[in-house]
Amino acid sequence: MSHASGRHFLQIPGPTNVPDQVLRAMDMPTIDHRGPDFQALGQRLFGKIGKVFGTTNPVVIYPASGTGAWEAALTNTLSPGDTVLMYETGHFATLWKKLAEKLGLKPEFIAGDWRHGADAAAIGERLASDSGHEIKAVCVVHNETSTGCVSPIKAVRDAINAANHPALLLVDTISSLGSIDYRHDEWGVDVTVAGSQKGLMLPPGLSFNAVSNKALEASKSARLPNAYWGWGEMLEANSKGFFPYTPATNILYGLDTALDLLYEEGMENVFARHDRHAAATRAAVEAWGLEVLCAEPAHYSSSLTAVLMPERKGADEFRKSVLANFDMSLGAGLSKLSDQIFRIGHLGDFNDLMLMGTLSGVEMGLKTAGVKHRAGGARAAMEVLTADRTAGSISKA
Ligand code: PLP
Repeated sequence: MSHASGRHFLQIPGPTNVPDQVLRAMDMPTIDHRGPDFQALGQRLFGKIGKVFGTTNPVVIYPASGTGAWEAALTNTLSPGDTVLMYETGHFATLWKKLAEKLGLKPEFIAGDWRHGADAAAIGERLASDSGHEIKAVCVVHNETSTGCVSPIKAVRDAINAANHPALLLVDTISSLGSIDYRHDEWGVDVTVAGSQKGLMLPPGLSFNAVSNKALEASKSARLPNAYWGWGEMLEANSKGFFPYTPATNILYGLDTALDLLYEEGMENVFARHDRHAAATRAAVEAWGLEVLCAEPAHYSSSLTAVLMPERKGADEFRKSVLANFDMSLGAGLSKLSDQIFRIGHLGDFNDLMLMGTLSGVEMGLKTAGVKHRAGGARAAMEVLTADRTAGSISKA
């Protein structure tokens, strides 16, 4: 491949752009993971990682992709044949359900149309009818990356409580953590699943389980086999700043710096920044005369926007053309949305001008690929991004 000058625009909804400070932090010698320098890093990380999850409880860090943390959440808390209630928000909820089946669980899948987040009332109704408490866990994807729809996790917890049901609540925040408001403790989540490569602004390679006391208690009697994923040995080693096996040392250096960047900006500001970029993106989509896939404004994602192609076709040719002409990667439609949508990632290390570059690239791509649209989307986004700025403002949000 010939060299392309300038920066590639990585606007898929994860992996996301890695800040230069994080890249530099990882550019270090790999150290002895049983030595004192690693221990200091481990203790620092275990002391500060909880804040991004909104928890004071332990967070387990795996050298694995998000799929591993899905498996860990299930195998630590459940037993063979257990019924789990899952909600079909889209492609990733479907993959989590398939994984549960492979592990010998019995998932019950509440059908969804891939244009909405989970319906808390439907979850509550199903739990209310489960008088024998056969359902051991409710599993929900907070931000469905395949559709750009967010599920109301607090409402799901309220529905579980209203049904007076003891099921655990397991939540996938792989594309929302560090981008969209999330509160593990306050919302009563039992296991939060997360990954490094999206809002945390790191390369792929780490994933996480934040664990409630109730989940820890459940892990003592859970009988699904696990070894690598087991929380027990992890937490014991973590309490001394170490891992029970070889950790991803250099990505952990990056995590240390990425958390500092997020905390320095302030989580409220990080969430507001993502909300604002998502609003500007939707303004562009509307001005182009295209349709946002998410059909419920209360469920709009602040980390990505999925856009329907006219007549639901041609998305892959369009994305190919944007990559070839403007060196920008956009997200593909997954499984049943294949070729019908493209997804714009606006999460992670991102600012107004990066968004304008992204939306300009989409608009230029729509034109060069001959996709039916109206001009003016980038202009509409500019209006949103300038409306809350004042002369001389140095606000970063
Ligand atoms: N869950 C969600 C919401 C995701 O977006 C992804 C990946 O994009 C996954 C799970 C799977 O994670 P991984 O590909 O890191 O294994």
